[in-house]
Amino acid sequence: MSRFFNRSLDRLVPYTPGEQPQDQQYVKLNTNESPYPPSPGVIAALNAREAADLRLYSDPEAKVLKAVLAERYSVEPANIFVGNGSDEALNFAFLAYAADGRGAAFADITYGFYPVFAELYHIPVRIVPLKEDFTLDPEDYYGLHRTIVIANPNAPTGLALSRAQVEGILQANPDCVVVLDEAYVDFGGESCVSLTGRYPNLLVVQTYSKSRSMAGARLGYAIGDAALIQDLETIKFSTNPYNVNRLTLKAGAQALAEQAYYDKNCQTIMETRAYTARELEKLGFTVLPSQSNFLFARKPGTEGADVYRRLKERGVLVRHFDKERIRDYNRITIGTREQMDILLEKLREFL
Ligand SMILES: *Cc1c(COP(=O)(O)O)cnc(C)c1O
Repeated sequence: MSRFFNRSLDRLVPYTPGEQPQDQQYVKLNTNESPYPPSPGVIAALNAREAADLRLYSDPEAKVLKAVLAERYSVEPANIFVGNGSDEALNFAFLAYAADGRGAAFADITYGFYPVFAELYHIPVRIVPLKEDFTLDPEDYYGLHRTIVIANPNAPTGLALSRAQVEGILQANPDCVVVLDEAYVDFGGESCVSLTGRYPNLLVVQTYSKSRSMAGARLGYAIGDAALIQDLETIKFSTNPYNVNRLTLKAGAQALAEQAYYDKNCQTIMETRAYTARELEKLGFTVLPSQSNFLFARKPGTEGADVYRRLKERGVLVRHFDKERIRDYNRITIGTREQMDILLEKLREFL
């Protein structure tokens, strides 16, 4: 830290992304990317003409992308915010709805970026512990009088709330914003986008990074009441009006025209998830019932860090969190069937 650094941020501990080795030497099951490429139309759309047009700024209103997203989710373009990854939408939501002292609430075991955003904006946080089995009790969130942030399905557990459970939380908090991070919802969860019309305090955040194979393009969006979306636009136009680049806007719109391709990939990933969970259980692992594109698993009698290290030595990367309650676990992204067979083979080698 330089002596010039903003002193009010001297306790800020940045988010630690999963390892991103650039040489492809690993079977990479550590950051929940899709093992499948983007759809053919997306790849074709990123052509020389689009590259030549990079001399021009991108559309700060993202009109074309918002129009197709609006159609896909049966809302109006005014109900959609698009961001440079959903991390940006979440970042703006913390700033917009919690940074004035009203505070935020989220689980003890959830997406590691939430506490970082809270610290960045000096937001007082109420940590709401998950139950012993890592499920979330909706009633713990009733009447909190602060901004509520829930990943649904949750990360890194993969466990999900039903729409009815989310609706209970919304009804019990009419005076606060509920941010629902649906990064993994396309892998078997129940989306709450359809509730946004009835609950003006609901903001649903989704991403192209997981189910749409575009983590490297950085594209996410938020859906909610037009007034909430306007707040996010105010922050965007006060920081970076061209937050989504031209190539990504183009790719994002094209992907929605090929929904069947992505649906099929999600289906395959869910089948591979069921297969992997069964095989891990045969090896003695306890596996949480996941509705996402990863499994959270531990083997009684082993240490999570040890399993992580032995897999890495054998060329397989998974994610270990050195954090109380979950130290025994590893989070394993669902790759192709072939990648999962390599994982299982390496596990059999040392267990
Ligand atoms: C991956 C992930 C995101 C963010 O992804 P972006 O790549 O920024 O869209 C957001 N929330 C959760 C829970 C995630 O796991």
